[in-house]
Amino acid sequence: MVSKVVFGRGCFNQLGDILSPKRLNTKAPFIYIVDDVFQGNSWLTSRIPLFYEDKIYYISADQEPKTSQVDELVEEIILTYKDLPSGIIGIGGGTILDLAKAVSIMLTNDGEAKEYQGWDLVKHPAIYHVGVPTISGTGAEVSRTTVLTGPEKKLGINSDYTPFDQVILDPELTKDVPKDQWFYTGMDCYIHCIESLTGTYLNAFSKTYGEKAYELCKELFLDNNLSDEEAQDKLMMASWHGGMSIAYSQVGVAHAMSYGLSYLLGTKHGIGNCIVFNHLEEFYPDGVALFKKMKAKHDIKLPQGLCANLTDKEFDIMIDVALSLEPLWENALGKHWRKTISRDKLKELYLKM
Ligand code: NAD
Ligand code: ZN
Repeated sequence: MVSKVVFGRGCFNQLGDILSPKRLNTKAPFIYIVDDVFQGNSWLTSRIPLFYEDKIYYISADQEPKTSQVDELVEEIILTYKDLPSGIIGIGGGTILDLAKAVSIMLTNDGEAKEYQGWDLVKHPAIYHVGVPTISGTGAEVSRTTVLTGPEKKLGINSDYTPFDQVILDPELTKDVPKDQWFYTGMDCYIHCIESLTGTYLNAFSKTYGEKAYELCKELFLDNNLSDEEAQDKLMMASWHGGMSIAYSQVGVAHAMSYGLSYLLGTKHGIGNCIVFNHLEEFYPDGVALFKKMKAKHDIKLPQGLCANLTDKEFDIMIDVALSLEPLWENALGKHWRKTISRDKLKELYLKM
């Protein structure tokens, strides 16, 4: 679990006070990995404390993080500085938070990031790392994984060293998120709740967090009485609780199939989950009905025909990726999931998208 967290509007101002006791020496910089959507945004960047050799890397979130991108950043940091950094601070959405987690791990572990995709393969503790989410929903700020696309698979580095040492939850940082993106990333949280709460892996720990996040999502996406500020505060806490819920259970059909879309077509996580979930009545009847209500209320139009022109070979790649995520299917449908899920079944579903 994340060991330290602060919450509140404006708490981003505490970053300097939080970091200064963690500085190892003047040659061991703090490295900031910041979404490039904030480049030139002095409201945010003027509050990033920079001393000695501290540095900001602005990184685009247009594509989800790759293992090769992690390796390149790590190499650049090692070649540039005499000492290992005092800390890595990620400021952005799930893409940037995952990148920051992965870089902090790979700075202290030999080899390439792709070798650590899986469960509990990390040998040494990561560099001190801090997460500052600027969009809410993925739960990446609280989770035990960092999802990376590698040469062979899209899979997280799941380990006890992955979670942030410190998280700064300042809902004010989410105020300029575009509406569509707000919905897609917010629905990631909603889908985490549905997949966790209806899954066979569910236990009391996951259920407690999942129910709270589900309640918050319903209020947020269907209630008219919330101010913008209340909605930002609540979505940030929903994301946290949704992330905690899957930490001790699993996601399900929507995530398995969305990983396939993402691997083949580069479809991003939030929108990909929405595109898939929209067609999963059969597996999640109540969850999908409510999702459609939310989608209509916020006038969200999802892209269609994504898989219309794919070749058989491309379908095979997507289906292979989806089926390889066995724990997700087992969570969704139980130990005998192979009786319900065939390659033809997945193709039929993908064709609807
Ligand atoms: P994102 O980080 O990809 O960002 C989406 C868009 O929103 C980008 O264009 C970004 O620039 C923009 N944005 C972010 N903050 C903004 C702000 N304050 N104002 C204006 N624009 C802003 O989106 P995401 O949905 O948070 O993250 C998706 C990623 O998270 C995927 O790579 C997925 O694999 C990963 N993920 C990780 C976990 C985990 O547990 N580690 C869980 C779920 C998803
Ligand atoms: Zn997700």
